[in-house]
Amino acid sequence: MIFTQVELAPADPILGLTDAFKADKRTGKVNLGVGIYKNEAGLTPILSSVKQAEAKLLASEESKSYLGIEGVQAYNDAVQSLLFGAAHQVVKDKRALTAQAPGGTGSLRVAAEFLARNTKSKTIWVSNPTWANHKNIFQSASLEIKEYRYYKAETHDKDFDAMVEDLSSAQAGDLVLLHGCCHNPTGIDLTQDQWEIIAQLCLKQELVPLFDFAYQGFGDGVDEDANGLRIVADTVPELIIANSFSKNFGLYNERIGAVTLVGDSQGSVIKAFSQVKSTIRGNYSNPPAHGALIVSTILGDTELKALWESELKEMRERIAKMRTLFVETLKQEGVTQDFSFISRQNGMFSFSGLTKEQVAQLKDEHGVYIVGSGRISVAGMTKENMPVICKAIASVL
Ligand code: PMP
Repeated sequence: MIFTQVELAPADPILGLTDAFKADKRTGKVNLGVGIYKNEAGLTPILSSVKQAEAKLLASEESKSYLGIEGVQAYNDAVQSLLFGAAHQVVKDKRALTAQAPGGTGSLRVAAEFLARNTKSKTIWVSNPTWANHKNIFQSASLEIKEYRYYKAETHDKDFDAMVEDLSSAQAGDLVLLHGCCHNPTGIDLTQDQWEIIAQLCLKQELVPLFDFAYQGFGDGVDEDANGLRIVADTVPELIIANSFSKNFGLYNERIGAVTLVGDSQGSVIKAFSQVKSTIRGNYSNPPAHGALIVSTILGDTELKALWESELKEMRERIAKMRTLFVETLKQEGVTQDFSFISRQNGMFSFSGLTKEQVAQLKDEHGVYIVGSGRISVAGMTKENMPVICKAIASVL
């Protein structure tokens, strides 16, 4: 027997919390753990743009034959337009190649395995803190992980000087994981000037940026959120982008994302991309079609694209409103501790500064679930559950 010797894996810090939440019988429980967008009614409905695209597909699709290894070409072209803007030099020079992949996670995993197997880059620098699954993904692909400082708990803000100091000790060829926007878990992003400094640092030290871009459109807007990525793409000869449409199209369970390689010339990127395809072939052979067809149908249709942009704006603005309401409601509940930093942060998440003990108390005594690190998914807050959340927090502080 071989299975008897296998050790029990620890529960995933985020998805394990969802399991505990589901098993909780209390009414009025609130899940602010996992990053899923909820509307004002506390639901995660399918976007209208997606429903309409699906209706079109149902009427027009003629075959379920295999896709190519890199997926739907119209989708891959649309991904590049969203990432870089259609007129970007990288696109014009054909220095970028994109492969559809299963979600942001699948895209990161393909990128990591391609890098570990085919390049001299064996070390990846990730921010401290970062999304809990990053280490798991990169270690599974045999990359060594190093951390750069990013967050200062005392100020609830980023520590940019420390980030630069740490990355200054990276070796030529090292990879640097950068969150394109809406940093997970802190909600704190780099400014334009800071992106320029990081781009120059990567260029000077020959570091290779790997962008994790899972929240385009959840910060300031679709183009605005790509600003950092575009600055870096303007500066360095090579980079990789793993993007996801789980959140901004609400396509969580369709598992749709992409891995994009940017090379210093069309010739070098074609060669490198052949190894990305080989990595995909050895993992899942070729990707599933439905999510990519939805996204390419929407982005290829002026009216559907405008509808999607308005739906994305609504999600973005609702989260921003919840941030302000959260800060105000805490004050109303008599909390004197300053939480105003939450309203200055971006995207679905913020680092609340709540301790492990307070997080446990929130769950055990109040049925309010947040991640052990103190990360709160603001996207799960509604006008209705806000008083419950804030009363609970006030009582554990
Ligand atoms: N990167 C970050 C920073 C994320 O927050 C997430 C989703 N929580 C992902 C990647 C993975 O996205 P997907 O669900 O598309 O795999």
